Amino acid sequence: MPNPKNQNIVAPGGMIGILGGGQLGRMLSLAASRLGLNCHIYCPETNGPAAKISTQNTVGAYEDVEAVFAFAQNCDVVTYEFENVPAQTAKAANNAAPLRPPALALDVAQDRLREKTFIRDKAGVGVTLFEPVDSVYDLERAIRKIGLPSVLKTRRLGYDGKGQYVIRSEADIRLAWDKMKDTPSILEKFVDFSREVSVIAARNIQGEIAAYPLIENVHKNHILHTSTAPAPGDTGAAGVLARKIMDALDYIGVLAVEFFELPNGEFIVNEIAPRVHNSGHWTQDAGCVDQFELHIRAICGWPLGSTAPRHKMQMTNLLGEAVNDWAELSANPNNALHLYGKTAPRIGRKMGHVNSRLKPI
Ligand code: AMP
Repeated sequence: MPNPKNQNIVAPGGMIGILGGGQLGRMLSLAASRLGLNCHIYCPETNGPAAKISTQNTVGAYEDVEAVFAFAQNCDVVTYEFENVPAQTAKAANNAAPLRPPALALDVAQDRLREKTFIRDKAGVGVTLFEPVDSVYDLERAIRKIGLPSVLKTRRLGYDGKGQYVIRSEADIRLAWDKMKDTPSILEKFVDFSREVSVIAARNIQGEIAAYPLIENVHKNHILHTSTAPAPGDTGAAGVLARKIMDALDYIGVLAVEFFELPNGEFIVNEIAPRVHNSGHWTQDAGCVDQFELHIRAICGWPLGSTAPRHKMQMTNLLGEAVNDWAELSANPNNALHLYGKTAPRIGRKMGHVNSRLKPI
């Protein structure tokens, strides 16, 4: 459709490039197609969850910057569904089409040290005490400053609790550092939180902002198990913190902010994800614009629409063999089943999720 007013706005008929081909890309693509937009998936895997249902698909390595540039040249805007997009890939894409969210968000989210420093110093939002650690001497010094218990984490490429160790006593120090195998790390003070909550917020190219109510998250074996929303608590306060982070990043798109709630009700940030997030999947069946559509609207410069749910919701992840309960789960009239089209239900693999409507609001 013609779009004479603003070259930055992507009108129906436009092409959205997505770096990454998993379930988040799939659900972004489904949301875009409802709005008459097309998606082109770029990822190394053939026939993954997103490619199966998208208009176009390019199979390529993220490191192949020429292929990434060529892919982006055929897109009106490029986005991503995972935060470990290499910096040179983001740059190559951005040379051909606007990259949204901006490369700065990737740079910040990929490195826990950079992330915590940015959130504390640039956004002015609280995080736990932390220190960089590059050797066992650094670790000993950091423990003297921060105290025990504390958590040693790799700076990069850690997710779902991978690459992190809780240090409870001095006897754990050598063992924890040996497990890190000299990987650049960060020591964080262990947070005695009362709850883990998150906020999913968005900012469009015009600077308009929207956020869903507070979400309460329960993890099992370090992987998200359930998200319930709206959760009791100060949604407004958490939303203000998310906004500060989006403003500091000059952000466009959906941003997920994971918080620890302290016993006094204060929120401190654990981490951010510059993308749609597992803890926002419940929005698909809550009777408002869902997080996937919200992201598409934001990066295409559309009005954001309503983020006010009409139902209290609970999302439960279906990991591995749990997906075999699909018939029973789909028989419940309060459930909406979302399956990702993956074939092998390996242990711990996210195969789908179920959104349950708990009660009208
Ligand atoms: P992360 O990969 O940083 O999101 O950490 C995974 C999970 O480990 C979090 O959801 C928390 O349950 C726990 N965790 C991480 N960092 C800390 C911390 N500093 N204090 C207490 N628990 C933590």
